[in-house]
Amino acid sequence: MRRYGRRHVVKDIALQRILKLLKYALNVVKCDPVLARRYVSLALRISKRNRVKIPHSLKLLYCKKCYTPLLPGITARVRIRTNRFSHISITCLHCGAVKRKPLKLKCKAHGKRLGTP
Ligand SMILES: [Zn+2]
Repeated sequence: MRRYGRRHVVKDIALQRILKLLKYALNVVKCDPVLARRYVSLALRISKRNRVKIPHSLKLLYCKKCYTPLLPGITARVRIRTNRFSHISITCLHCGAVKRKPLKLKCKAHGKRLGTP
């Protein structure tokens, strides 16, 4: 019981450090992209070591291949596309990797899917 409590605290500290490192990475990416990449790689290493999941909304903020923080207009290109399904494509301008996030339209009142635009 006690061990579980301690693990919970460790995971909480790890999550705090991950959030802080990602915030620093986004702040510093304009002037020092190498340092920003280092911050992201450290955050990912902390999450793997402590088995803490990075929140889904924050996963869109960095490139999985080269660890560059993705700022639209500076290190990333963001487009809405409707090729096979409508999605947002985020292209990393450092390595060219593409992230795709599907666009799902949901009715707030009923939770039903309305279809793609
Ligand atoms: Zn990249």
